[in-house]
Amino acid sequence: MAVFASDSFGQLKVEKIMTAQWNHYINGEYVSPESEEYIHEFIPTTALPGDSIARGSAADVDKAVRAAAAAQPAWNARKPIERGRILLAIARLVRANAAAFCAKEAEETGKPLKMAAFEIEACAQYFEYYGGLATAIQGETINLGPSYHAYTTREPFGVVGVILPWNSPLNQAGRAIAPALVSGNTVVVKPSEFTSVTMLQFAELVVKEAGLPPGVLNVVTGTGKETGEPLVKHPLIRKVAFTGSVRAGREIGKLAADRIIPLSLELGGKSPNIVFEDADLDRAVAGSVFAFTVNTGQVCLAGTRCLVHESIFEKFSKKLAGAVEALQFSDGESFGLGPLTTKAQFEQVHRYNELAIQEGAHCLVGGEAPSDKTGWYVRPTVYTNVNNSMRIAREEIFGPVLVLIPFKDENEAVAIANDSDYGLAAGVWTTDLARAHRVSAQIEAGQVYVNEYPSGGVETPFGGFKQSGHGREKGIEALHHYTQTKTTIIRI
Ligand code: NAD
Repeated sequence: MAVFASDSFGQLKVEKIMTAQWNHYINGEYVSPESEEYIHEFIPTTALPGDSIARGSAADVDKAVRAAAAAQPAWNARKPIERGRILLAIARLVRANAAAFCAKEAEETGKPLKMAAFEIEACAQYFEYYGGLATAIQGETINLGPSYHAYTTREPFGVVGVILPWNSPLNQAGRAIAPALVSGNTVVVKPSEFTSVTMLQFAELVVKEAGLPPGVLNVVTGTGKETGEPLVKHPLIRKVAFTGSVRAGREIGKLAADRIIPLSLELGGKSPNIVFEDADLDRAVAGSVFAFTVNTGQVCLAGTRCLVHESIFEKFSKKLAGAVEALQFSDGESFGLGPLTTKAQFEQVHRYNELAIQEGAHCLVGGEAPSDKTGWYVRPTVYTNVNNSMRIAREEIFGPVLVLIPFKDENEAVAIANDSDYGLAAGVWTTDLARAHRVSAQIEAGQVYVNEYPSGGVETPFGGFKQSGHGREKGIEALHHYTQTKTTIIRI
């Protein structure tokens, strides 16, 4: 068993990438898979094999869930302020080891180091924020008259299963794990099979150095079918927090329904970004470019349907095309475009580019992969001559592909924005405050960003309307999704 363990962790430099074989992290130690098989990750900037991870099975999942179940009563019995203190220690450790996490996350996902640094900082902030809220998880007293004393308490579910995608590994892990742990749950995480290593490094680090007891956080790696499904099906899993595609969300939803366990689903989007004629044009152009190219478009909330008032459509399109043309590929460090994280994603973006042309769209800029790159790089691409019924306007592509659609007035903008199966996010660009409120109120989406895209922080609740999911992560509201209310009524 070769493990990239704590003696080298911390010294990792991006120019010195070593490949290694990783086991599951269960009950405070690395555990080899029952299958004795491993899956290769790939390095997106080169398309070459990277580290390999354990191929998890139901037997491995069982070990992890049992360890988490055994650790849960003692973890829940700790004073909330003590749990909070451990979360704050985790935040400090993540920051202290940020360079190593960034290097590995950049290697696994292909994202530039500056972007990885933003994600690792977000991970630290989740632990800082929820660590600070540890003592604010409170119930209420309910007045039933002098003969009763009635009160509510918020209690953990037990063991929470967290299933993650590959686009922002530690950022999304922190988003789910921090509120789950602070509420007294223990956790088994199944990271994406494409990007599992930073999650393993994280678990090892926080158990060894932040005082998180063994078994409170466990990581089982492998595919969705072989490892994710057994996790959802396991009888000791009492809640699942899933982030990923609608397809997998639907499958997991069926399994969770069979077991009658709560499930939060953070799924995909095809988010509208509406530019009104009174918008500050330069800010709207820059913001709209960022909205669909950040993390090379591999962001669930990406603003990929840009709806532009017809009176500024020509001018806006021209400026936007110029700004997109000027975007540079990152040298690996600086902000800029990285590759797509997986080969399948690279092929999917190409299929949609072909479909766009078949559907009669006009390619304003981009469309082809750069010929001088070996990794999974694509050029950001913008289409006009698109209407909202075309597949490229309706389906999530999960790459830097934007459609521009004109509208006549506010009502039509809202109608097009809402004509989608998704409802994750939306942007509104206007200098008219009344319009900003009016339009935001009518949009069917979990979050609306006005004059910035995206916006918000760890404090702002996040989640979807319609097929973008249900439940909320982030903010105080997430604590309600990792706890259940108990009402106690005492006859006096
Ligand atoms: P995916 O659904 O293919 O996989 C996500 C995770 O689910 C992986 O760990 C995978 O192994 C697992 N999985 C797949 N099928 C499963 C099954 N049947 N049972 C249990 N686990 C299963 O998604 P992806 O390609 O990794 O990520 C991209 C998708 O994630 C996009 O649709 C994107 O919009 C979405 N996403 C949503 C958010 C959000 O917060 N709303 C954030 C990031 C990504």
